[in-house]
This record gives sequence, C-alpha cells and structure tokens, in this order.
Amino acid sequence: MSIRDNLTAFQKQLPDTVKLVAVSKTKPVEDILEAYNAGQRIFGENKVQDLVAKQPLLPKDIQWHYIGHLQTNKVKFIAPFVHLIHAVDSLKLLKEINKQGLKNNRVIDCLLQFHIADEETKFGLSFEEAGEILCNEVFQSFTNVRIIGVMGMATYTLNENQVRGEFRQLRKYFDNLKSKYFNDADYFREISMGMSGDFRLAIGEGSTLIRVGTLIFGERNK
Ligand SMILES: *Cc1c(COP(=O)(O)O)cnc(C)c1O
Repeated sequence: MSIRDNLTAFQKQLPDTVKLVAVSKTKPVEDILEAYNAGQRIFGENKVQDLVAKQPLLPKDIQWHYIGHLQTNKVKFIAPFVHLIHAVDSLKLLKEINKQGLKNNRVIDCLLQFHIADEETKFGLSFEEAGEILCNEVFQSFTNVRIIGVMGMATYTLNENQVRGEFRQLRKYFDNLKSKYFNDADYFREISMGMSGDFRLAIGEGSTLIRVGTLIFGERNK
C-alpha cells in the first residue's frame, strides 16, 4: 500500500470530531509531500532539529505539530511557525513559549501533557501539578501562550482494558479542567490521545486528535 492509499483508508474510518496528526518523524520530505498531495495537512514531528530542517522545504499551509518532549532552549527554533505544541509539562516551559510567542508576535497553542501510563519513563503532569500551573499568577499573566487541551500516552501493552482505563482517565482530567478553569473558553477542546496501536480505543474514549505514524508511513528506520 502506498502512503496515499494508507491515508485514504484511514480517513474513511475517522469520525468528523477526530483530526489526524500524521506523525512523519524519521521520514523524508518526499513521503510527507506524498501525504500532502493526498490531502493531509497536519503533520507531527518529535525532534526540533528535524522539524526545523523539513519545514522550509514543504508547503507553507502545513500545520506542524510538535509532539515530542520540548527543551526550553529549543523553543525559539519552532516558535515562528509551530501550530500546536502537544507535550507541555512545566511552568518553566510555558514561560519560554510565552516569551517566544511575544517575540514572534503570535499566540502559541499548547496542550498540557498528563502522565497516565503505568511506566516511569513517560513525561507528564499529575492533575494536581496541572492545577498548580493554571492557578499560578505567573501563568495567568501570559498573553502569548494558550492552553487548548490535554495530551497523554497510554502504557505500551496489549491489555486493552488498561489502555482504555488510561484514556478514560485523561478524558476525566480534561472534563475537570474544563469545568474548573476553562468553562467559558471555547478554544479549550482538544484531547490528544491514540497512536497506531491504540487509536480506536482512544477515539472510543473521546480523543479529538490522534497521532499516527506507522499506519500511514510504514515502519520507521531504527
Ligand atoms: C512516534 C509517536 C507517535 C506515533 O506512533 P505510531 O505508533 O508510529 O503511530 C505518536 N505520538 C508520539 C508522542 C510519538 O512520539
């Protein structure tokens, strides 16, 4: 199957409420262009260096999502063009994103990443930590960063009940934050969860953004 065929088949399964982030990490610009020519506009990368190398070579109406762990000192490289930063997990990082947003005269949209997996290696906030950030006056003074939802990664396991439970937890965090901090904010509406192996479960639990690489571009070269 070609990338175009994969995408077409994939788009057919998606409800209108769910957007596909085509995860193009490690893939060459030719592959991204093939997906673009098949109609895909949202792409995800997880390394700043790769994103910065690919972005100028590709059409300007691509919406680039940064899905990896972002280091504070690298925000400046993607701030001029990034459409959404998925994995924000500290006030310090938000502060830098706000600063770079100001410099570039734009508001940068972000998601708060939550730790939902039963694995220590995955980044992310607890619900309490997120509350502390959102209540903080420093955060409330930011004018050029906007939190539009949440993101999480489930445990890498074949146990569907566990994965479903973790996605359900993230959905609960979203609902709680919405009612507590974003009740009047229409823009707070994204739940980024689900990858090639678990996107169906994620959609069942209310995902609005699925991040899928392998099923579209094939296996990554290690
Ligand atoms: C690589 C990656 C994905 C996509 O993974 P696939 O299993 O190839 O679909 C999704 N989210 C994040 C954060 C990733 O790093």
